[in-house]
Amino acid sequence: MTEVSPFYDKKVQCLACKHSYTTIKIRSRFIKVKGHDRDFCPIYGSDELNPLLYNVSVCPQCGFSFTDEFTKYIVPVLQTDLEKKISRHWQPQDYGHIRSVEDAIKTYKLAAYCALIKKEKKITIAGLYLRTAWLFRKTGQEDQERRFINLATHEYIESYLNDDFRGTAMSETKLLYLIADLLRRQDKYEDAVKYLSKVIERQQTSGEPKIVEMAKELWHDMREGFKNQKQNHLA
Ligand SMILES: [Zn+2]
Repeated sequence: MTEVSPFYDKKVQCLACKHSYTTIKIRSRFIKVKGHDRDFCPIYGSDELNPLLYNVSVCPQCGFSFTDEFTKYIVPVLQTDLEKKISRHWQPQDYGHIRSVEDAIKTYKLAAYCALIKKEKKITIAGLYLRTAWLFRKTGQEDQERRFINLATHEYIESYLNDDFRGTAMSETKLLYLIADLLRRQDKYEDAVKYLSKVIERQQTSGEPKIVEMAKELWHDMREGFKNQKQNHLA
């Protein structure tokens, strides 16, 4: 009997130049999730079998990079923009094999740039920034993590204010909670509390008691954090 590899090649067609290529994915039965950080960052049982590394498909021919969240259609005028800003500068390279965390970070940066040019939804762009931040959390580069948390927060708030997340997998309650946690991570406590109270206001109507509970816990822990800070200051 041959042993099944956790990895397989997925066939992909580039949305921009229509070139067909393969990119590595992990078979779902090999993925073990041990838990989550407060901003929903999954903690996987293995560094290698981390599907976050393989979310982005990068066209080896033109450089266009995207995830399953992207819409398939590209407006012709934006297609020209992509050609000018990406393809003309692209040095053919293949991200279709096993990726290091550093490789994966590059693929997310490429995808975020393509998403901006292609005018993808803010919720999609925010998700790319947040995942980049998670990968920097893994490598311990705190400044870079914070930089991408900041970029993600900005896009998530815009998405909330413009109702751009409607019709996606992101619910309003989850989005408000996530914004609060990302603000907390940037020490913007007053703003974080504003968003947490919006979550808690929805506790009767949201149908998401788990998120409401997480919001209450976060608020509680922030308050405790303040108290300790004060005590340390007095001591
Ligand atoms: Zn392409």
